[in-house]
Amino acid sequence: MHEDLKLVNTKFRSAKIGKLKIVWSRELPAAPSSVTVIKDSAHRYFLSFVVEIQPETLPQTDNSVGIDLGIKTFATFSDGTKVDAPKPLKKRINKLRKLSKSLSHKTKGSKRYEKARVRVAKFHAKLKDTRTDFLHKLSTEIIRENQTIVLEDLNVSGMVKNRKLSRAISDLGWRTFRTFLEGKAEKYGRDFRVINRWEPTSQTCSSCGFKGGKLDLQVREWECLNCGSKHDRDENAAINILVAPWAFGDKKAHRTRAAERRKGTRSKKRTWRQV
Ligand SMILES: [Zn+2]
Repeated sequence: MHEDLKLVNTKFRSAKIGKLKIVWSRELPAAPSSVTVIKDSAHRYFLSFVVEIQPETLPQTDNSVGIDLGIKTFATFSDGTKVDAPKPLKKRINKLRKLSKSLSHKTKGSKRYEKARVRVAKFHAKLKDTRTDFLHKLSTEIIRENQTIVLEDLNVSGMVKNRKLSRAISDLGWRTFRTFLEGKAEKYGRDFRVINRWEPTSQTCSSCGFKGGKLDLQVREWECLNCGSKHDRDENAAINILVAPWAFGDKKAHRTRAAERRKGTRSKKRTWRQV
């Protein structure tokens, strides 16, 4: 490490910024070779270390999962598991309104303005931490448990243009989730695939491959007109997402793989604790 930087357990010192007390997010696996100091708009300092480590491996598994992302339920897996995301902004929207209002009443450039600005920035930083923590835990669990992970490519930027949806979607962090899955899959040697969002994953019956036509967003459950199977909208989509890289355009393969997936279906609902 650079000479004018000192790192001792809970304290960090550099010539430029002086002393910092450290709160470790996790233990360093080895002695760092370098450190980068980042200051965010909420005046928080982050230390990022470069550490050399042995590549990690996970035990091989035959499990695979298709993941359908949504607004109401954050993620539905092809085995029927549903995961709700924390929605930190929804809960604290009034607090944000109050902070923003207070900021708008201050004169730009004044000390009071700066104080109010930092309060708003701190508020946003906390929301971000809650979301990131959730996305990290969930993506790690998915990568740990599955060899193959298939996700539908979502037109996030197109959806965020719809103002009504935009707040809900930004609060969810789909894009970050995809980035986390991608990175961890590469790190641990898992097979991560993204399928085209134009595949009719919601409209296709995962039991027989029949295409039922567009479903209104309100329709959460439906029955296939061809084979009579009853479907949970998101679970059916997740099964189709899982088999899509191999099967769309090949009905028989689709049916076989989808049927395999359906056998192992269990239903459980998990709600992630707010942190
Ligand atoms: Zn059917």
